[in-house]
Amino acid sequence: MDKEKLSSLIDTLDYGPAPESEARTREWLKSHGSKFSHYIDGAWQPPKNGGYFKTINPAKSEEVLAEIALGTKEDVDAAIAAAQKAFPVWSAQSGHERARYLYAIARAIAKHARVFAVLESLDNGKPIRETRDIDVPVVIRHFYYHAGWAQTMEREFLGYRPGGVIAQIIPWNFPFLMLAWKIAPAIAAGNTVVIKPSKSTPLTALLLADILLNEVKLPPGVVNVLTGDSRTGTMLYEHPVPWKVTFTGSTEVGRVIRKGTAGSRKHLTMELGGKSPFIVFDNADLDSAIEGVVNGIWFNEGQVCCAGSRLLVQESIHDDFIKRLKRRMSKLRVGNPLDKAMDMGAINNAEQLKKIKELMEVGKKEGAVMWQPENVVCPKGGFFLPPTLFTNVEPSHTIAQDEIFGPVLVTLTFRTPAEAVQLANNTRYGLAASIWSQDIDTAMDVARKVKAGTIWINSTNLFDAAAGFGGYRESGYGREGGREGMYDVLVEADHGTQSPSSHQSLPQDKIAGRKERAATQIDRTYRFLIGGKLARPDQAGSFSITSPSGDLLAVVGEANRKDVRNAVEAARGAFPSWFESAAHLRAQILYFWAENLSNEKDRFASGIAAQTGCTLDAALDEVGQTVSRLFDFAAYADKFGGLVQPVLGRRLVVGLREPVGVIGMRAPDESPLLGLISIVAPALAMSNTVVIVAGRYAITAMDLVQVIQHSDVPAGVINVLTAQNPDAIAKVLAEHEDVDAIWSFGSSESSKVAEEASISNMKQTWVSDGEQIDWRSIKSEKLLLKSTQVKNIWVPYGV
Ligand code: NAD
Ligand code: MN
Repeated sequence: MDKEKLSSLIDTLDYGPAPESEARTREWLKSHGSKFSHYIDGAWQPPKNGGYFKTINPAKSEEVLAEIALGTKEDVDAAIAAAQKAFPVWSAQSGHERARYLYAIARAIAKHARVFAVLESLDNGKPIRETRDIDVPVVIRHFYYHAGWAQTMEREFLGYRPGGVIAQIIPWNFPFLMLAWKIAPAIAAGNTVVIKPSKSTPLTALLLADILLNEVKLPPGVVNVLTGDSRTGTMLYEHPVPWKVTFTGSTEVGRVIRKGTAGSRKHLTMELGGKSPFIVFDNADLDSAIEGVVNGIWFNEGQVCCAGSRLLVQESIHDDFIKRLKRRMSKLRVGNPLDKAMDMGAINNAEQLKKIKELMEVGKKEGAVMWQPENVVCPKGGFFLPPTLFTNVEPSHTIAQDEIFGPVLVTLTFRTPAEAVQLANNTRYGLAASIWSQDIDTAMDVARKVKAGTIWINSTNLFDAAAGFGGYRESGYGREGGREGMYDVLVEADHGTQSPSSHQSLPQDKIAGRKERAATQIDRTYRFLIGGKLARPDQAGSFSITSPSGDLLAVVGEANRKDVRNAVEAARGAFPSWFESAAHLRAQILYFWAENLSNEKDRFASGIAAQTGCTLDAALDEVGQTVSRLFDFAAYADKFGGLVQPVLGRRLVVGLREPVGVIGMRAPDESPLLGLISIVAPALAMSNTVVIVAGRYAITAMDLVQVIQHSDVPAGVINVLTAQNPDAIAKVLAEHEDVDAIWSFGSSESSKVAEEASISNMKQTWVSDGEQIDWRSIKSEKLLLKSTQVKNIWVPYGV
C-alpha cells in the first residue's frame, strides 16, 4: 500500500459496518406468518372484527414488519374477562409461587435476550447497542427484582393486598422496558393485567407473550397483551372492571385519562412527559459532563421522557463547553440501528419526526441559533435526524419549555447556583435532573432544591429496578420500581384489621344519650386564618352553623375565590422555608397542639357535641383520639425520612420522602376534630403547607385556629377557610395552578369534580368518593404516603 493511500485511510479511519444478525428474529416473525393475534387468556385470539394494522421498521423505508390485531370493544372485554377470571387463583398463590414465575420470566428473557434486542431495534428504530446493553438487561433485572417482592410481600407489605385487574397503557419509546416496569410489580403483588403496547411498537410484547405461553407457562389470564391504537386504549381505561389504570405517555393523553376516569374510583399511576434540566457547574469534570450530555439527550434519539433536554451551563464555562460539545457531536454516528457501531438510530415514526422538525423551526423563528454537525450524514430511506444543538435560547422560548422528544438540545446559562435552581424549576414538568459538580455541597444542595422525581449527580439516565421512577408536578404521579412502587400496585387489606383503639367507643352518630351542649358560641366573630393572620372574608359573607336539632350555634365566614387565592398564595410563600425547617421543629409544633388540645378538651368536646349531636363523653373520646394521633405524627415527623435501596453499580440511591407541596383540603364531614387533624398533621409533619376549607364542622376548625395561633407554626403554613358549600371551594382549589394536591372528602359528585379539575396541572388527588372514612382506624402509614413523594438521588462514588 502506498503511503498516500495509507494516510488517507487513517484520516478517514472509521468503524466499518458491523450489523447484528436479524436471522433469528426474522424467523420468529415468520413463525407467526408475520401476523399477530391478541394474547388473551393464555392463547392467541384473533381480533373479533378481523381488523389489523401494520407495524413498520422506521429505519428502512417503512418496511412492514408485521400485521397486528386491532383491539375493539369485544377484544377488550375478552381480555379483561380473562384477567378477572385469573385474579382469584393468581392472588391466592403464595408469594413464593409467584416469585418462581417472575424468576422464570427473567430467565426466559435472558435466554432470548438477543432476539428481543434485535426485535426492539427493528420495531422502534433505536440502536442495538442500547437495546442489547440497556433495554433488555434492565427488563431482566426488573423481573428478578420483583420476584423478590413477591417472595417477601406477606412480611414486607403486611396489611396490603393486590386490588385485582390492572389496565396498562404504554408508549413506543421504550416498548419492552415500559412493559416490564408495568407488568413485573403488578403480577408480583398478585394482580392480573391487560397491557396495551403502542401501535408502532407492539412486537417485543408479543414475543414475550409467546414465551409466557410456551416456556414460562404462566397461568392463563395473568398477563394479557391487547394490541391496538388510542381507541383501544380508551376502551381499556374506561372499562369498569380494572381497579387501576397505569399509563406512560404524553402529559396530554395523561390529562385525557385523568379526566375520563374522574369519579370512577380507579387508582392511577401517571408517568408523563418531561423537560429535564442538565446542569453543569464550572467546577464539574467537563469531559465526563460532555459524555453525560451525549447520553442525556442523544440516547434513544432523545425520545426519552427523562432526557436531559435543557442544558444549563454556568456562564463562565459556556463558550468552552459548547466548543467541546460541538466537537463531540461531530463524532456521533447516525445510521442503521442494527449496526453495533451506531450511536443513534431512527426516530420512531413519521408523526414524531414531523413534530420534532416543526419545533426546530419554531426555535429558529424565535431567535435561537441551531447547529448540526456538517459531517454527520443521515442515511436515506428512514426517519433519521442528526444531533441538534440550540444556543442563544431564552427561558421563555417554546423550545425551552415544550418537550421536543427528539435529538434536540437547548442551552441556557446561569451565573449562581440559586439561578441554576430557579431555571431548572422553570418548567411545568418535574421528571428528572442531572447535576454536574465536583463540589458535594453544591451538588446535594441543588439536588434537594430541584423539583423532580429522579436526580442524577455526575451521571444521567441511570435506571434500576430498586430505585423507583416517576414524576413531580405535570410529569405525573406514582412510582414504578423500588419499595415505593409496590404501594402503587397494592390496596389496603379489608377493614378487618382495625386498630384496637377503634373498639373503645362507637362512632358518634351511633351514640344516643346526653345532649349536653356547650354554651352558645354565636357571639364569637370567626374569621379565616390566612398567612398567619385572622382575615375577614373578602365579601363579608357568612353562614350559620346549626346543631342537628336546628339550634343556631355560630355564624362563620363564607369563603370565595379571592379568599382561596389569598390562602394559596400564603401557603406557597410559606413552603420553601417550611420545607427546609427541621423535622424536630415540626414534631414540637404537633406535640404542642396535642398538649393544648388536652388542656382545652372541654372546649373542643363541647364544640364537637354541639355540632354532631353526640354525647359529651363521645366527644371527649374523640379529643383523646386526636391527641394520640398528634403524638403519632409528631413521632413520625423525624422518622419517615426515606430509604436507601441497593442498586447495581457504584452508586448510592438516596430515596428522600419529600413533601408534595401545597395541599388543598376539603375537610371531612365526619369526626370533626379527628378527621381534620388526621389530614393536617401528617401533611405538616412531612413539611407540606395546607389550605383547608371546613364546612359542616366549621366551629371545630375555628377552635383549632386558636391553638394554631398560639403555636410556633410559621405564618402561611396552615390556612383555614370556612364555607357553607366546601365542595365548591374544593373545586376552586382543585383548579388552582399553584396547588400541588387536592384532598377532598365530600360527595361522590364533588370527588369527580375535583378529579376532573385536577388536570390543569395534573395535581395528585385523594378523594373519598362520597364514602365515610373511618378516621379512627385509618393507618398512619397511608396518611404519610399520601403526604409525600419520593425523590431518588443517585450519588456516585469511586471511579
Ligand atoms: P402517547 O401519550 O401518544 O401514547 C401512549 C400510549 O397511549 C399509546 O399506547 C397510545 O396508543 C395510547 N393512547 C394515546 N391516546 C390515547 C387515548 N386518548 N386514550 C387511551 N390511550 C391512548 O405517547 P407516545 O407518543 O407513545 O410516547 C411519548 C410520550 O411519552 C412523551 O411525552 C414522553 O415523555 C412520555 N413518556 C413518559 C415516560 C415516563 O416514565 N414518565 C416514559 C416514556 C415516555
Ligand atoms: Mn414499528
